[in-house]
Amino acid sequence: RIYLDHAAATPVRPEVLRFGMRFLDGFAGNPSTIYREGLEAQAAVARAREQVAALVGASDPGAIVFTSGATESNNIAIRGTALRNKRSGKGVVASAVEHISVLNPAKDLQKSGFAFTQIPVDRYGTIDLDALGTAVTPETVVTSVQYANDEIGTVQPIREVAEIVHDRGGVLHVDATDAAGRMPIDVERDGVDLLTLSGNPLGGPQGTGALYVRPGVRVQPVLVGGGQERGLRPGTEDVFGIACMGEAARLAAAEMPGENERLRAIRDALIAGISEVEDAFLTGHPTERLPHHASFRFSRIEGESIQLAMNAFGIAIATGSACTSRTLEASHVLLAIGLAHAEAHGSMVATLGRSNSMEEVPRIVEAARETVKRLRAITPL
Ligand code: PMP
Repeated sequence: RIYLDHAAATPVRPEVLRFGMRFLDGFAGNPSTIYREGLEAQAAVARAREQVAALVGASDPGAIVFTSGATESNNIAIRGTALRNKRSGKGVVASAVEHISVLNPAKDLQKSGFAFTQIPVDRYGTIDLDALGTAVTPETVVTSVQYANDEIGTVQPIREVAEIVHDRGGVLHVDATDAAGRMPIDVERDGVDLLTLSGNPLGGPQGTGALYVRPGVRVQPVLVGGGQERGLRPGTEDVFGIACMGEAARLAAAEMPGENERLRAIRDALIAGISEVEDAFLTGHPTERLPHHASFRFSRIEGESIQLAMNAFGIAIATGSACTSRTLEASHVLLAIGLAHAEAHGSMVATLGRSNSMEEVPRIVEAARETVKRLRAITPL
């Protein structure tokens, strides 16, 4: 079996699970209590906060708020910032290729009188910086541009985006779900005010995440309850999940240079091999892309069938985003890079991880070639 869908789900690292198990197996300790068990839980959360802060270059670990994942972090960042600052203006800006957990909260704010502007991207998925400069005004309370895209792998010029947003007095949110652990992120160098992180892509459990909130940025909670996580994410902490995410962040930071180089080589071999298949095209940016990401589209065949055929060859691979697979609509990302509806349906996305090796590449390329040949033979298109 070859597993190529790490963006949808990454295997939990055994050493991470082993580390976290002490906070799950028979453990009782609420970080809000001050007897021994509570202090132990508190220490575990504090350690994880430092590790996650270190992964993204945040000098103040107190700026990290633990959440249940990227969707929740994005919601707090968009809704929480917009609603808290609505007296300064009612504009929200985001790139057209953001994940739906950014686009949907932004669209929902329109019901509360906010104006939402989407910024177009070019055919590689790179944001139009001139359009961004025009769209962000003193009325804009939050601007959201992802670090890198999960469907096409394109990495955005975040430092330039930050300069444009800050020149206009704005607040920049960056969804780094797919980039964290794969790119050297530094919220201070990059000028990021709010940063979304997910624990699973780092090798932690599903349902873990964090939001970096630069000190001084005003955000109101989406959930209200107790004062945990500075009141931004009330409710008893998921000590196990948080501890695991911290350990996963520590390992990802330590291994990033070597592991990225290894994955980049496999990715490049995969791109070279699959590009040879008839009528196959790389999607996303040819060079400014995630080191573990290879995405393609094939004319005249359909993604769902590609996925099933590849599965029969023993390969787990995606067609676009798992998050939108239930809607059967063409991907908003592929439409945003200028593909026609019919073209946007034939996509295949490989996201690599620790288990993948160069030895797998010929088998993947051969399976893709065979898949495309068989599907084209029976296609009505
Ligand atoms: N943002 C991006 C860029 C993503 O790729 C994803 C999903 N992988 C999410 C947000 C949502 O993550 P989750 O489903 O874990 O909340």
